[in-house]
Amino acid sequence: MWERTEKDLVETEVVIVGGGYAGLAAALQLHDHGVDFTLLDAADRVGGRVLTESRDSGVRLDHGGQWIGPTQIRLHALATRFGCGTFPTWESGKHIEVWHDGAAVPYLGAAPADGPGITAYTHITETLDTLARTVDTTEPWHTPGFVEWDAQTAQSYFRAHTDDPDALRRLALAVQGVWCAEPYEISLFHVLFYVAAAGGWEQLMETGGCAQDSRFVTGAAGPARAVAALLGERIRLDAAAHRIEHDADGVRVHTADTVYVARRAVVALPPTAVRALSFAPALPVSREGWLSHSPMGRVAKVHAVYDTPFWRAAGLSGIATLYDDGPLGVVFDNSPADAAHGVLVGFVYGDRLTDWSRLDDADRRAAALASLARVVGDGAARPRDYTEKNWSQDPYARGGYEAYATPGGWTGYARHGWRTPTGTLHWAGTETASVWNGYIDGALSSGYRAADEVITALSAQAG
Ligand SMILES: Cc1cc2nc3c(=O)[nH]c(=O)nc-3n(C[C@H](O)[C@H](O)[C@H](O)COP(=O)(O)OP(=O)(O)OC[C@H]3O[C@@H](n4cnc5c(N)ncnc54)[C@H](O)[C@@H]3O)c2cc1C
Repeated sequence: MWERTEKDLVETEVVIVGGGYAGLAAALQLHDHGVDFTLLDAADRVGGRVLTESRDSGVRLDHGGQWIGPTQIRLHALATRFGCGTFPTWESGKHIEVWHDGAAVPYLGAAPADGPGITAYTHITETLDTLARTVDTTEPWHTPGFVEWDAQTAQSYFRAHTDDPDALRRLALAVQGVWCAEPYEISLFHVLFYVAAAGGWEQLMETGGCAQDSRFVTGAAGPARAVAALLGERIRLDAAAHRIEHDADGVRVHTADTVYVARRAVVALPPTAVRALSFAPALPVSREGWLSHSPMGRVAKVHAVYDTPFWRAAGLSGIATLYDDGPLGVVFDNSPADAAHGVLVGFVYGDRLTDWSRLDDADRRAAALASLARVVGDGAARPRDYTEKNWSQDPYARGGYEAYATPGGWTGYARHGWRTPTGTLHWAGTETASVWNGYIDGALSSGYRAADEVITALSAQAG
């Protein structure tokens, strides 16, 4: 099984594959417990699906994860430990719904009190909340409705409960906005599990007090960079793992020029990146089946930078949901804490991303700016800076925000394949979290859990 090699050998107690927030959390936990480790990341930076860029225009943008909510206690603790401040999401003023006929309808408050499809939408999402309260987020297969709900898509459930096309439009945009998937793709049980892991539907959807409450003053990669600075040379960048050999005695992780020999490994990657590795011996059917039922969502983030947040003078918040045929589904005011510039961020999800990404650069930009103009007026058409990040084309994540389960995935494979260690291999990554699954906070808890598994196993061996 051990491949003969001329590569350099590096011995380490634990090797961590992946330097997103999950891998960094595992590393920090091992560091705090005095356990030797080496962390490998394929990219030339840490942070993974959290990517903060300082632009020539002088503004700092978060292309990936950016928000933090008040119940995301692990992320708050990490930010506090490393002195990374946050500020509330800009949300004063009137929000806009751009309806499928192009009408732009303003409203105040967290969600519109009335409008097309609202009654059925509210009824169905309240029902989802009720069902989600029965989900066991630690051992989901013990949930009473597990098999029945995992056998259907969100779409089949929605259509069984309403034929109101406007309610279906609202439900579809909600699924796109939270999972970057279409309702026809995602397991209803996965939706319920995820709602439960976040603490309710409203937690997923709203700004103040919920998941989109606040942003990081220096960008969401700030805590990741601070952890990396503390851990120093134990983090190896530009070190893509491509093969992992494992048995009861230990693991050997191969990069292009080095083999890392360790007693245990923490694999802290999104499911698609795990499937890109070769394992010897092959992974168990349960783990492989779980991974193959866990595609990544489809999302791009578009940023347009202006001299000022000019929409505020018109009483607009810059927050919008769009049900028309433009590429953007949701827009937020992403201006910095000091509002030295005006910044709008737009999200392109699911089928709209597939269509939009077929356009050339100029047409994609024109279509995105036209969407922004429907929200804040013609001033949106002339940004001083514009940039896109299509996560489906990111070489390491291959999608975002996270992987979701397709029907049958939980039922067929999760009991043994979701996060149960495979011998000396321990599984982390936000997709393995019970709380805030899919979020940075979930990535952190998954890394701490995997590190705790390793610490327990190593001390059992030592004892
Ligand atoms: C557009 C977008 C918006 C989001 N918004 C939010 C938000 O506002 N709030 C929030 O909490 N969450 C948000 N998320 C989700 C959040 O970013 C993720 O849940 C979280 O960052 C995942 O962390 P992770 O460590 O599990 O995985 P990742 O961040 O994907 O880390 C995996 C790491 O493994 C590395 N890697 C891949 N392959 C290999 C290999 N072969 N060898 C070595 N290394 C490898 C990658 O380079 C990467 O650094 C968003 C995500 C996206 C994409």
